[in-house]
Amino acid sequence: MILLITGPSGAGKSSFIGRLMEQDPRLAFSISTTTRPIRAGERDGVDYDFVDDAEFDKLLADDAFVEWAVVHENKYGTRRSRLHEMVAAGKIPVLDIDVQGGVQVLDIFGPELVSVFLFPPSWEELERRLTSRGTDSEDVIATRLSNARHEVGLADSYTYWIVNDDLEAAVGRMRAIISAE
Ligand code: 5GP
Repeated sequence: MILLITGPSGAGKSSFIGRLMEQDPRLAFSISTTTRPIRAGERDGVDYDFVDDAEFDKLLADDAFVEWAVVHENKYGTRRSRLHEMVAAGKIPVLDIDVQGGVQVLDIFGPELVSVFLFPPSWEELERRLTSRGTDSEDVIATRLSNARHEVGLADSYTYWIVNDDLEAAVGRMRAIISAE
C-alpha cells in the first residue's frame, strides 16, 4: 500500500500527517526533494532533501523522480530511490504531495495507491489559517486562496475525502481508511 495525502495549502496536511505517523508505526514519511530554502527547525534528509536548482535539474534529467511539480515557485519531487527504500524496509510510504503533483501519481500507481484529499472545514477557516501563520504577505495569501479554489475542483480524482475540522477526529477517519484498505 502507498498512501497519498493531498489538499490545498492551509488544509493542515503537515499536522495531520505528523499525528497519523505517531499513531501507526507501519507508516514511513516519503522525504521529498525540494529547491525551497530550509526553514528554521527543519532538518536536511529528514523533512526534505534540500538541493539547489542545478542539482534538482540534474536529478530530473536522470529520471530520478516519480513525479515533480512547481509549488509556490519552488520545485518539489518524489524520488524513486526514496520510495524503493521504504518499500524494501517493509513500510507503507506516506506521500505528502500538492494537488497537481498528486494527480500525476494517481496515473502511475495501480490499486496499491490509496489517495486522500484533505479539506479545510470552510473557506473562512482556510483564510483564517493562512492568515494566522503570520509568515506570508497578503499577495501570497490571496494566491494560495485562489489556487485552493482550483485545487478543490480536482478532488474528484481522489478516492477518499476527509474534512480536517478537528485534527484527532480527522486522523481517526484516516486510520479507519487504512484498516479498511
Ligand atoms: P512546504 O514547502 O510548505 O513544505 O510544502 C509546500 C507544498 O509542496 C505542500 O502542498 C506539499 O504537499 C507539496 N509537496 C511536498 N513535497 C512534494 C513532492 O515531492 N511533490 C509534489 N508535487 N509536491 C510536494
